[in-house]
Amino acid sequence: MLLRNKERLFSVLCALLSLFVYSCKNTADVVSLPVSLPTLPENGVVTSQMSSFFKKNDNAILELSPDCEIEIVENEYKLKYGTVSEFPFSAKKKIKRIEYQTLFPSVAGSFSFFRILIPKKNNVEDAAFILKYLKNEKLQDSKKGNVYSYYEDSQFYFYGVFLPFSPLYEQDSYLLSVEMNFKDGEKAIIHSTGVVEKNTFREQILKFPKGKSKDLQNASRKKYNVQQAARHELWKIVTQPLTTGVWEITKPLDNTSRMTSDFCFTRKWVLNNGKLYSKDVHLGVDYGVPTGTPIYSLLDGVVVSSGLQELYGNMVIVNHGLGLYTNYCHMNKCLKKSDTLIKKGEVLGEVGMTGAATGPHLHIEARIYGIPIDYRKLEYLPQLFVVEP
Ligand SMILES: [Zn+2]
Repeated sequence: MLLRNKERLFSVLCALLSLFVYSCKNTADVVSLPVSLPTLPENGVVTSQMSSFFKKNDNAILELSPDCEIEIVENEYKLKYGTVSEFPFSAKKKIKRIEYQTLFPSVAGSFSFFRILIPKKNNVEDAAFILKYLKNEKLQDSKKGNVYSYYEDSQFYFYGVFLPFSPLYEQDSYLLSVEMNFKDGEKAIIHSTGVVEKNTFREQILKFPKGKSKDLQNASRKKYNVQQAARHELWKIVTQPLTTGVWEITKPLDNTSRMTSDFCFTRKWVLNNGKLYSKDVHLGVDYGVPTGTPIYSLLDGVVVSSGLQELYGNMVIVNHGLGLYTNYCHMNKCLKKSDTLIKKGEVLGEVGMTGAATGPHLHIEARIYGIPIDYRKLEYLPQLFVVEP
């Protein structure tokens, strides 16, 4: 009974504390906390229904998001679900509290975005992330890179990490860790986990005409694999964003009404002699349009690759920053060379049917850290800039 009362008192205190902090959130850029925070237990499980704070040691404070659970073994905590962040803290100093938000649901073949707001007084020296994909708590894949600011207003720098979810393997959860070093030598760490939903894919049969069937039989799988590995090295590179302002994508073509193959169709490639050539998962979207139709860059960026590639044909790759790349394939002509800065809507090339194509069309792909995502989901990017009041 006594224990229960203690527990109740504890949660009331936590609630009051959280209310106090949240009421300060939008007015102050740094937040004062009462010095007498509860100390994190050495061992055990801590769950929070609402945002709550703990003293980790004399220099650090932990904030648990609503619906968060951490497991502590000998003073080391492990996140089970939710988000936990660790900030520098001392009785004299005010904490560098960072606001964060995960945007969009997490679905295979799509992406989410983790946004971090840093008060402008807290200058970040550098920041990096590690993103792990798990199934039954077993590691399936991991990605890492630098974290950059992509926007600022009068109060905050906006930092962000894309969270892409591959359609090519199963993952039931992810774990994101961000470490930020401030110019004064202090640092903050955020761990965030979430559930990844599955996606289902449809089937399609591709029939190649005589000339193309011959080309395919002569195509080198080895060359394709070597080139694809080189592209994956390129897609891994996470740079400062080249798009400023609102990331509002333009259409890749004037007319996208004739879609001939959808994202993540599982496809059988059949030659003109009826034989099965290959099976693949379609990692882009195809639009059938006449040869010579102009192809536009979805966003500002820089061309990082341009030229003839096995199966992909003439291909232009544009880096938009934060790990986001768009790829435009089967071009009749590439009109932009590598290292060219590109504005949104600028012509990159002409539609054609070079490489593995059954007719003239644009194959457009978007990749984040090399993970293929449905490029049409990028339409929701302007929501990154909406900050809740
Ligand atoms: Zn395609």
